[in-house]
Amino acid sequence: MSTADPPRWPSIAKDAGAFKRSPNLADPAATREGFRWSDARGWLDGLPGGAGLNIAHEAVDRHQRQGRGTRTALRWIGKSGQRRDFSYADLSAATSRFANALASLGLGAGDGVFLLMGRLPELYAAMLGALKARSVVTPLFSAFGPEPIATRCEMGDARLIVTTPELYQRKLRALRERLPRLSHVVLVGEAPAALLEDTGVHSWASLVDSQPDTWTIPPTPPESPSLLHFTSGTTGRPKGAQHVHEAVLAHAMTGRYALDLHDDDVYWCTADPGWVTGTSYGIIAPLVCGVTSIVVEAEFDAATWYEVLERERVSVWYTAPTAIRMMMRLGTAPLAGRDLSALRFMASVGEPLNPEAVVWGQQAFGLPFHDNWWQTETGGIMIANVPALDIKPGSMGQPLPGVTAAIVQRGADGHMHPVGPGIDGELALKTPWPSMMRGYLNEQARYDKCFDGAWYLSGDLARRDEDGYYWFVGRADDVIKSAGHLIAPFEVESALIEHPAVAEAGVIGIPDDTVGEVVKAFVALKPGFEPGEALMRELLGHARKRLGAAVAPKSIEFRANLPKTRSGKIMRRLLKARELGLPEGDLSTLESDEKK
Ligand code: ATP
Ligand code: MG
Repeated sequence: MSTADPPRWPSIAKDAGAFKRSPNLADPAATREGFRWSDARGWLDGLPGGAGLNIAHEAVDRHQRQGRGTRTALRWIGKSGQRRDFSYADLSAATSRFANALASLGLGAGDGVFLLMGRLPELYAAMLGALKARSVVTPLFSAFGPEPIATRCEMGDARLIVTTPELYQRKLRALRERLPRLSHVVLVGEAPAALLEDTGVHSWASLVDSQPDTWTIPPTPPESPSLLHFTSGTTGRPKGAQHVHEAVLAHAMTGRYALDLHDDDVYWCTADPGWVTGTSYGIIAPLVCGVTSIVVEAEFDAATWYEVLERERVSVWYTAPTAIRMMMRLGTAPLAGRDLSALRFMASVGEPLNPEAVVWGQQAFGLPFHDNWWQTETGGIMIANVPALDIKPGSMGQPLPGVTAAIVQRGADGHMHPVGPGIDGELALKTPWPSMMRGYLNEQARYDKCFDGAWYLSGDLARRDEDGYYWFVGRADDVIKSAGHLIAPFEVESALIEHPAVAEAGVIGIPDDTVGEVVKAFVALKPGFEPGEALMRELLGHARKRLGAAVAPKSIEFRANLPKTRSGKIMRRLLKARELGLPEGDLSTLESDEKK
């Protein structure tokens, strides 16, 4: 791929002076060599009496059993600034009450428990409590409209949903007839009497609060279903990825090695539990690692976020490119005078992290962002920039211990085979690993297509360099073919956002009779810049200089914002469908209400 070489951004070297404390993964190469998943099992407890492995036990009850019950597990910061701390002992009791509540309704192992609410403390108690009861948990974005809620509840056989009176009234009440299997609705907070009269509707206070504080987790074979997660829907209709309790081994390993969690850390994952990062890394991994996790109910706002980082003395921060780009829009001025000295490790996931953003981290926070890669299907981080490794900005890092990755291409025998460094191909992972999805709900054929022999095929294109770093090229569906070149939208977008006027860019291929496809860019500008002919010419010139004429966009369209999924990813497929007047496909996860 012509846009790839050579890396334009110098490496960020990590020497001993780069760390505020010594990393858990001090020698990645040696640990990778010697690591076995049974090592991670050894860090955990297992259910008493050899009764299996349960995520909620490892995340919550284990700490209490081992004398860490008084440590703060969750610090919840409400929309109007209220602050509530929950110790591991509090969380153990709260989750047991919810498990008892489920049992009182005759629900338990294998039953679908759905969560539809903002980041309220009850969400955390319900998710972990349902896991204690061996129910199968599905979190939904509270901003979903009625239709995506209904289809997911139907597909996932929801038996009980926890939500708020307001969301119930607005989005769910009218759907109840369509969802005969949804027997119970639990409303969090003050509920109008009329709602409580609906069949199967309970208030959290009356159903849960009075339950016993103790609960014995039933035997949980590691293969027991745990979570059903719908993918972000960036490329089309979301898939329901089925996970099991054994995934906790990967949460333990990645929390320790990829996020470098030490047990006295104050950690903040900004992702909403409505998608997998907010669950695996907003709830499970930090608790398994025994840290204090910050939960912020409010949506993104740079000033509030900086306030949280400073006041709570956050030490490890896990966020996403879209949020980082929003902060970059505002420059470093809002950070002036803030004491962020507690911060020691920053990571990002969800989309490719533009090299510009990695480096901006250093200017703004004195620390680079560490990009890492995974997907709903992998259940946990697979490839990461870890503290002890130099960062090559634009690379997503190296496979973690226990993870065997490769770049594969289809050979003459019709099967996928690893290729050497510098060659583009599909990013594949050697099966099995503990947090691997065990199926796509009701879509066996689609699941089977993800595998070739021992390889899981991710659907993403990437490249490995001589040093073993992985570089994201694009989603297999997004790559542009123009005049014999393969063009990765991400590299064109990254070149554009190097320009001081550009906040965000989305790049697509437009069919063309002569060259196959021509590159078109959609650009959102930073405050203080106005769209216009002169700026467009300047950006086209900048891109040509950076990328060469064959790869640079031929046209640019200015947009106030780019369409994104609820989990914050640019939806290139939608830019393309709208440009070409094609069907827009599934829009259930579109962030705004701009659905035509
Ligand atoms: P769908 O599969 O429904 O289209 P999705 O793939 O966006 O949605 P997720 O599982 O939430 O759903 O996202 C995983 C995908 O996000 C990865 O396969 C990859 O394409 C992209 N991604 C995640 N992290 C990174 C990263 N660090 N660099 C590049 N791409 C990333
Ligand atoms: Mg995907």
